[in-house]
Amino acid sequence: MAKSTLHCSFCGRKRDEVKILIAGQEGHICEGCVEHAREIVHTEVESKQEGKSGYKLTVRKPIELKQHLDEYIIGQDEAKKIISVAVYNHYKRLNQVAKAVKKSGTEDPDDGIEIEKSNVIMVGETGTGKTLLAKTIAKLLNVPFAIVDATVFTEAGYVGEDVESILTRLLQVCNYDVDAAEKGIVYIDEIDKIARKSDNPSITRDVSGEGVQQGLLKLLEGTDVLVPPQGGRKHPDQKLIKVNTQNILFICGGAFDGVDKIISRRVNTNSIGFNVNKELQDAMKSNLLKFVNAQDLKSFGLIPELLGRLPIVTYLDPLDIETLRAILVKPKNALIKQYTKLFQLEGIALIIENEVLDFMVEKAMEYKLGARGLRSICESILTDAMFELPSSDVKEFTLTATYARNKFDHTKMGILKVA
Ligand code: ADP
Repeated sequence: MAKSTLHCSFCGRKRDEVKILIAGQEGHICEGCVEHAREIVHTEVESKQEGKSGYKLTVRKPIELKQHLDEYIIGQDEAKKIISVAVYNHYKRLNQVAKAVKKSGTEDPDDGIEIEKSNVIMVGETGTGKTLLAKTIAKLLNVPFAIVDATVFTEAGYVGEDVESILTRLLQVCNYDVDAAEKGIVYIDEIDKIARKSDNPSITRDVSGEGVQQGLLKLLEGTDVLVPPQGGRKHPDQKLIKVNTQNILFICGGAFDGVDKIISRRVNTNSIGFNVNKELQDAMKSNLLKFVNAQDLKSFGLIPELLGRLPIVTYLDPLDIETLRAILVKPKNALIKQYTKLFQLEGIALIIENEVLDFMVEKAMEYKLGARGLRSICESILTDAMFELPSSDVKEFTLTATYARNKFDHTKMGILKVA
C-alpha cells in the first residue's frame, strides 16, 4: 500500500510511472528529474566559466586619471577633473561596499555612512568629446563600457522593458560576465532628447520622453534588473539574466540646445544689482554652459527624480580653432598621426605643410562639423593619394595646401558647398 503512494517530489510522477525513484531524507527524485537537474547544473557552471571576460578593475587616483585623459582629449579641463573625481569616488565606494560585505555580510557600512552613487551628466555641443571622455576613462579602468542612445527608447514607446536593453549592451560587451558588467560604465547619449517639452507637467505632458526618464530611474538608482540576454522585449520563456546596477556608473551626455537661454535668464536674474563683475561677464560670454546646474536641466525638461540620481553636472566647451588644430595633431592617436602611420606602413614618408592643417580646421569650422568632421575632411583630401601611391615607387609624399584645396574642392563636401 505504502509503496504505491511513493512519487517523485519534483515532477510528481508515481512510482510505477518511472524507472528509478531515489529516496532522500524527506522526498524522492526520479531518473528524469536527475537528468534535468544535471543539465541545469552543467549550463550554469558553463555560463559562469564563459563569463570570465578578462576585465579587471584598476582603480587610479584622480590626478592620474586626468593625466591619462589629457593624452587623448584636448581641453575640457573642468569636465576631465570632475569626471576623474567622480569615477575615483565611485570605485572607492564600490570597495567600501565590498569590504562591508566581507566583514558583516551586508552592504551597510558599520559607521552608517553610506557613500552615494556619483552618476554624471555632461552638457556640451555635439562633437566636443563627451563620448570620447567616457570611453577613454572606461578603457583606463579596464571595465566594460557600453554606449547607448536615449532616443531609441522614445521610439519604442512608453516605459516598458526596453530600457533594460542598456544592460544587454553592457553584458554583450563583456561576454555575459555578470560580475564584470556590474562594475561597468554606461554612457547614455542624447539624454536631452528625452526631456519633456514643458517645465510644467500639467500642461503638455510629453508621455514618451517622461516615460523613458521614469524607466531610467530604476536603473540609475541601483536595483536588481532582469535583462533579456539578446535585448528586445522580454519574452515569457526567455531566460533572463539578473544584473544589479548598484555599482554601474552611468554617465549621461547631451547638447541641451537652448539651455544657454535658461542659464542666461537665471544668472542674469541672480546678478541683478548691476555690480556684475567683469570676470563673470567674460565667462558668460565665452561659454554660458560653465554655469549649468540641475535647476537649468529641470527647466529644460528632465524630471527632478532623474536629476537626483545624476548628482554631478559638468559641461564641455565648444571647440575653437586652436582646439581643433590641436585635436588634429596632439592626442596620442591624433588623426594626423594615424595617417602618417598608414603611409609609413606603405614605406612612404608623409609630410604635411602647416597650412594644410589650417585649411582643414577652417573647413571644419565653416561646415560646422566640429572635431567629428576633421576625419571626413582628411579622408577627402588623402583618398586619391592612398589609392594611387601604394602602386607607385614614391617614398615621400608632401601634402601641400594647393593639393589639399584642389582635392577638397572636388569632393562631395567641396562641391556641395559650391552649389
Ligand atoms: P560628443 O559625444 O560630444 O558628441 P565625441 O566624443 O563623439 O563627441 O567626439 C567625436 C570625435 O571628435 C571623437 O571621436 C574625437 O575624435 C573628436 N574629438 C571631439 N572632441 C575632442 C577633444 N576635446 N579632444 C580630442 N578629440 C576630440
